[in-house]
Amino acid sequence: MNLGIVVPCFNEQEVLRESSARLSALMDALQARGKITSESRLWFVDDGSNDTTWEILEELAQASTRVRALKLSRNRGHQNALLAGLLTADGDALISVDADLQDDLDVVEQMIDRFVDGSEIVYGVRRGRDSDSISKRLTAVAFYRFMHLLGAKTIFNHADFRLMSRRAIEALREFREVNLFLRGIVPLIGLNSAQVYYDRHERLAGETKYPLRKMLGLALNAITSFSVTPLRIITTIGFLIFLFTMATSLWVLWVRLFSDSAVPGWASTVLPMYFLGGIQILCLGVIGEYLGKLYSESKARPRYFIERVV
Ligand code: UDP
Ligand code: MG
Repeated sequence: MNLGIVVPCFNEQEVLRESSARLSALMDALQARGKITSESRLWFVDDGSNDTTWEILEELAQASTRVRALKLSRNRGHQNALLAGLLTADGDALISVDADLQDDLDVVEQMIDRFVDGSEIVYGVRRGRDSDSISKRLTAVAFYRFMHLLGAKTIFNHADFRLMSRRAIEALREFREVNLFLRGIVPLIGLNSAQVYYDRHERLAGETKYPLRKMLGLALNAITSFSVTPLRIITTIGFLIFLFTMATSLWVLWVRLFSDSAVPGWASTVLPMYFLGGIQILCLGVIGEYLGKLYSESKARPRYFIERVV
């Protein structure tokens, strides 16, 4: 098989040479054992870096036929850079991996074996989160739980370390969305998939290119791109308030008509307040429902992929 390894890079001058050397060595070893062909390439994507990343990549590509490099016109973020690489690279299967080599390269071979056994998508799943800070661990767990609650099917503790077959890549191409959250999209493709487990290392060098701001952005994007549940919650709340309003209105009317404890002007002030409040939130909910539909229609996601025809 012809393998492609796709590596998005943003200001990675500190690690790039080392990563490239290790990845090339890995590919050479796999090639020597006949697991991959000599056409297999490493695809680096420079995500509009403002350090010497691109110069290093050009140099690496000159020095070795193994290395190819793409340069995005400006920084578009990890997910977009990765997509650009996946949709450009060739190969019977593509593996995506971070430039800092935090993900364990030893499982690459397992991924290939699963692919050979017929899996079209192989997810790299972290065994634990020992190498993370407490805060990152907590926010990550909270995030996955929340996504699950909202009904989006992400794979627990899987980031963007995965193998995709040519067929899965072509399916990915059909997704036209602009707000990318690949971890959410890939499971939507379906097809035969498998998981391999690994431990995550420390960054080789340099520092994280995912500051809290970008991480929150990704999480917000994930939630709003994969779930209309927040809109549905408004509908539910609106409906409950509306029921409560009906009951309260009856009570107000009853006090006004059948008792003499009502202060003059009370019913005519309080009734419309409850009533309009309830109606308004209910209406917001109804609008939310249509907005949710409009939203998913405007994404124009592919409706199905045919896995096989016999
Ligand atoms: N990255 C990118 N564009 C960005 C931010 C990050 O291409 O705007 C790349 C980065 O070079 C690395 C990968 O995305 O290869 C993951 O980033 P990082 O390792 O900094 O994230 P962390 O592992 O700390 O979550
Ligand atoms: Mg990293």
